[in-house]
Amino acid sequence: MGLVVQKYGGSSVADADKIKNVAERIIERKKSGDDVVVIVSAMGKTTNNLLALAREISSNPPKREMDRLISTGELITISLLSMMLNELGYEAISLTGRQAGIITEGSFMKSKIADVKSDNIKKHLDQNKIVVVAGFQGVNDLEEITTLGRGGSDTSAVAIAAKLQCPCEIYTDVDGIYSIDPRLYPDAKKLSQISYEEMMEMAHLGAKVMEPRSVEIAAKYNVPLTVGLNTGNLAGTVIKEYDKGMEQKSITGLSATDNVLLVTINNIPYGENNTANIFTKLAEENVNIDMISQSSPLDNNTVRISFTTNKDDAKAIEKVMDELKNSIDGINYQTEEDLVKVSVIGNGMRDQSGVAANVFKLFADNNIEFLQVTTSEISISYIIDSIDKDKTVNVLAKALGL
Ligand code: ADP
Ligand code: ASP
Ligand code: MG
Repeated sequence: MGLVVQKYGGSSVADADKIKNVAERIIERKKSGDDVVVIVSAMGKTTNNLLALAREISSNPPKREMDRLISTGELITISLLSMMLNELGYEAISLTGRQAGIITEGSFMKSKIADVKSDNIKKHLDQNKIVVVAGFQGVNDLEEITTLGRGGSDTSAVAIAAKLQCPCEIYTDVDGIYSIDPRLYPDAKKLSQISYEEMMEMAHLGAKVMEPRSVEIAAKYNVPLTVGLNTGNLAGTVIKEYDKGMEQKSITGLSATDNVLLVTINNIPYGENNTANIFTKLAEENVNIDMISQSSPLDNNTVRISFTTNKDDAKAIEKVMDELKNSIDGINYQTEEDLVKVSVIGNGMRDQSGVAANVFKLFADNNIEFLQVTTSEISISYIIDSIDKDKTVNVLAKALGL
């Protein structure tokens, strides 16, 4: 008899009928002889609705209260799913993050899981119950409820599987990982397997099908991970350690991140502590910086720095820049929005050169302009105008066989 962790996301539990379908799938698995721990997200768009409600009350609500609020979505789902399982004749128990022993650390709304104290889960499994755990939430050492960042139920599921040393199955509204988000490019190819590292990179670069941290944990603890359709009818994608058999092409996938803001700061006197000061101030305001580039010193011994961030940080940047104008003489800045980051990802890039050149040529041939480029060992990212997004995705997908 085995043990498995299954996770069902918001769209899979969006209404009572869907909860019934999920319950039936869990029971099927239980009947096959496996013990099952189920992690669920909030129903449908509940988390978004709660966030919107908070914004009606305050433009800057205390983050502690935000976590208390948005952690309630998952509580509805665990109770309803447990009721449904009991209704169908199987003993189940719902556990909040705290009851499941999810210990968190870090800030409200973006905490990390520090530990899973799994005794309570194990106790209920020993009593032959199906254990239903609220994803996305935990409790920190100050006994405060915290959440794990959007999409965090994936992380709850993988962390619990890592602790219980069992496989983790993520069920969602797509039948696996595709080379490109099928909503963005319907002809994308389904991948039968992908390495932890490529999946991590794809997730970090915008593929929201998996929360990046969940893949990081899976890789660290070698958790067998599959992603599949919530009806279970189609074979899903296996995410696992890289092996040579996977290495067929240089590029495995493409991800896109919307709402990119490009900030350029001009006239920064060169050779002083200015760059450090600028980024320290931005960090103090929790601005999440992505790509950074700095020009060589110009004729007047100043430099220009550009960086990208999310559009949501525009207000914080304005505040920082207003302060900096007082302390650094002559600097000014401009921002450009309506930008998208398009990234190509593949393990094969490690030992194949010319991928960037290839893409540059495709951009030139198709009149696509880019504003910034960065590379990692297994990805290249381009900032483009959002108007060119669909065209860019199509051009790259066709040329790279994605
Ligand atoms: P859940 O609510 O189950 O957690 P999400 O909405 O978070 O589901 O993730 C599933 C969605 O991820 C899919 O509907 C799909 O549009 C999107 N997605 C983004 N990139 C990919 C990809 N490369 N492969 C598959 N799905 C992707
Ligand atoms: N309900 C949370 C969210 O919408 C967590 C999750 O869905 O994984 O972000
Ligand atoms: Mg998700």
